Amino acid sequence: MRFEDYQISFEIKKNLAKLGFKKPTDIQFKSIPPILKGEDVLAIAQTGTGKTAAFAIPIIDLLHRGKNTARKDGIKCLVMVPTRELAQQIADVFQELSRHTRVKAFSVFGGVEQDAQIARLEDSIDVLIATPGRMFDLVSQGHIRLHRIEILVLDEADHMLDLGFIKDIVDIKKKLPSKHQTLFFSATINETIKKLAYSLVKNPIRIQISPKDPVSKNVNHSVAYIKMDDKRFFLERIATENPESKILVFVRTKVRAERVFKAMERVNIKSVTIHGDKEQQARFEVMRQFKSGEIKILIATDVSSRGIDIPNVEYVINYDLPDVAENYVHRVGRTGRGKEKGIAVSFCSDEEKEMLKEIEAFLGKEITVMNIDKEEYNTTLDFTEDTNNNWKALLKENEEFQKKKKKPNKKKK
Ligand code: ADP
Ligand code: MG
Repeated sequence: MRFEDYQISFEIKKNLAKLGFKKPTDIQFKSIPPILKGEDVLAIAQTGTGKTAAFAIPIIDLLHRGKNTARKDGIKCLVMVPTRELAQQIADVFQELSRHTRVKAFSVFGGVEQDAQIARLEDSIDVLIATPGRMFDLVSQGHIRLHRIEILVLDEADHMLDLGFIKDIVDIKKKLPSKHQTLFFSATINETIKKLAYSLVKNPIRIQISPKDPVSKNVNHSVAYIKMDDKRFFLERIATENPESKILVFVRTKVRAERVFKAMERVNIKSVTIHGDKEQQARFEVMRQFKSGEIKILIATDVSSRGIDIPNVEYVINYDLPDVAENYVHRVGRTGRGKEKGIAVSFCSDEEKEMLKEIEAFLGKEITVMNIDKEEYNTTLDFTEDTNNNWKALLKENEEFQKKKKKPNKKKK
């Protein structure tokens, strides 16, 4: 079935065509009809399979035809997401798909001034995409009114229901009109969270695609055993040998992100970092640079592991293994999106072998080991431009020494 054949508004079809979307993906094929019918949906499908449009298309269609749309008395749909970058990205998808319809979408998130957001909220917004912190602030100040909401969406639902958000979400649901639709979307969900999700809705339609292997089939992923102190040399080699490739590097902490950045800088490899300690404007700028390909290497913490859709990321490097097993699936899912293929490699040190086991238990299978023989391993260490660490240091030192010896002669001239 093609989008042309769907019973959805002509404007949406035109927007889909403009984006080059001809046929729905599996998750879109299965989610769109029940959402249009007003059902509650819990949808699990692998990373990069088009979950955003799977909820955006029917929501826009429902609202475009709805009688309450484009009114100033409160938003009609709330989409909750875990990060600011994701809020912006999903708002972009809604805006592209709702062009020439009556539907207006907008996003709010923390880390930036709220005045401009408040002004836009007065502008009869229908779909609001929000991160929890800023959203709750704006609700408590009365700038976001919930009483007209017809649809609540939790993207990265397992993550949103996990941690501290559950109580807030339950509270929000209490403030919505009693008849509203709830949609959960994610690539991963465990039994506990699934139960929690079910407890929030009535008779949801459950849609699950490829549940056996949570890792996207478009991602070729493997693990390489590398000593903690040698990781930077391996990253340097991959970066140097693939100068045209976009590489997304995940590290465990903000401090590590900056440290890896410096290690790359020492060997003249340009990269940028993104993590929670950065100013929001800097975070957006870094995303722009990486998206456009201006900078090929992005070093990130798990703040960027979920949902982010960047075209043509060829490699995901787990420079450190993630602390939480399901983040493995989300991190490697930043490559191999849509029809693209991608490669993911995890650098596993001795200290991380336990974590690797946990990840494999979560995946329900072992991760292919990339065999690096001793010679190859040592070649990588020799390959580095980092003069602190190998025979090159001695050469350079010698060079400096020779220069110094020559200097007195120069002075005499
Ligand atoms: P997910 O949320 O499942 O990880 P996204 O919604 O971010 O995936 O979509 C992944 C990519 O697939 C995006 O770049 C999107 O533009 C593209 N995409 C989505 N639906 C279609 C479609 N029907 N045809 C072609 N490309 C699509
Ligand atoms: Mg998504």
